[in-house]
Amino acid sequence: MSKPKVVILGAGYGGLVTAIRLQKLIKADEVAVTLVNKHDYHYMTTHLHMPAAGTDHHENARVDIKDLIDERKIHFIKATVQQIVPEEKKVVLSDEVLTYDYLVVGLGSETETFGIPGLREYAMTINSINSVRFIRQHTQYMFAKYKLDSKHQEYLTIVVGGAGFTGTEFVGELADRIPDLCQMFDVDPSLVQIINIEASPTALPPGLPNDLVEYGMDVMRRKGVQYKLSTAIKACEPGGVLLGDGQFIPAGTVIWSGGVRGNSLLQDAGFHVQRGRVKVDDYLRSLQFPDVFITGDCSIVMSPEGTPYPANAQIAVQQGYNTAKNLLYSLTGKPLRPFAYDYKGTVASLGRGEAIGILKVKKVKGRLAAFLKKIIDARYLFLIGGIPLIFKKMIFKQKQAT
Ligand code: FAD
Repeated sequence: MSKPKVVILGAGYGGLVTAIRLQKLIKADEVAVTLVNKHDYHYMTTHLHMPAAGTDHHENARVDIKDLIDERKIHFIKATVQQIVPEEKKVVLSDEVLTYDYLVVGLGSETETFGIPGLREYAMTINSINSVRFIRQHTQYMFAKYKLDSKHQEYLTIVVGGAGFTGTEFVGELADRIPDLCQMFDVDPSLVQIINIEASPTALPPGLPNDLVEYGMDVMRRKGVQYKLSTAIKACEPGGVLLGDGQFIPAGTVIWSGGVRGNSLLQDAGFHVQRGRVKVDDYLRSLQFPDVFITGDCSIVMSPEGTPYPANAQIAVQQGYNTAKNLLYSLTGKPLRPFAYDYKGTVASLGRGEAIGILKVKKVKGRLAAFLKKIIDARYLFLIGGIPLIFKKMIFKQKQAT
């Protein structure tokens, strides 16, 4: 009799944790598990703001997938998923087609541009190792370009659209990086501008209490960050951004961190989506196709209050744990375990030695919060790769930022 087939798409937080937990629960010859990912490495998205700003090397934000999985139990395929055909239980890759009994979709998110003209073409986004390599190189290039043609002071202006989690963490790092860049390129620091533009009336990740938001904005302003709140970006052009009030801000670098939506492959496959994300049942399965589990940024999980939980790494990891168990229960005919999100808190970095956040209900800020952020990162590394991975990525770093 052929072995049941489980296919996991995406080796991000949700997909990778599902695979790693599942390999602990099954024997090598019981189930044929295949993990598919675009790259042969897993990257910690929550770390990407640092290599994007240039305060850390991108190598420290990624881990080879083969170092994390047991190849006797999980067959890894490096490939891009082209299509999911849930009616036929098929997944089309670049040059092969996989069939499954159970599918896990953990393909993450795509940039949400809200239809703003020019954003896709002229703004950069922080969403992969390749994108952050590009941002870091581009920023340096603009400094070098300014030195050749110093009447273009706008080359030294960096606009960041969106002041939520990603925008805030990036801007905090970037502000720390500017003095090094100025020294490297002999640039007067007073000429450099970092402008964070946000459509809502406050900056920083939503849900934080006002006093923490004020503290955070104060820290950022002291680092030289300028805020434009309640301000919408109307268009992005090759030389800058046009605001809702008609003002044009000339800028050599524009980063968009204003929002994400679920991976478009789900909508293309006929799943009912809201901003690309699929509402799942209590066990994280598609309501249309119960043999498809959906994790992370691709899924919508409702809270007991009837509102969707925000998509983040914390929930994606917990979904991975639950999905691994439910795959095993599905394969062995046991009742499935409902998913219950255990919100542990949120900590947002504001750059070197500064952060703000909430742990359960306790507010944290400053050095303590920054330390807790490191603990959260270390905990994740421990979960996927044990203590050796913490040493490799956080203590004896393989590569330093240049
Ligand atoms: P991801 O982790 O994005 O993984 C998706 C995987 O699918 C990737 O490996 C990708 O390469 C692969 N993939 C995509 N398309 C294909 C394809 N067609 N074929 C094959 N493979 C494909 N959340 C927090 O909780 N705390 C934070 O501090 C935090 N900070 C953040 C900072 C930044 C800069 C960003 C961008 C996000 C941050 N988030 C944070 C959000 C968090 O990173 C995401 O919610 C989380 O990564 C979602 O996990 P996921 O498994 O759904 O997808």
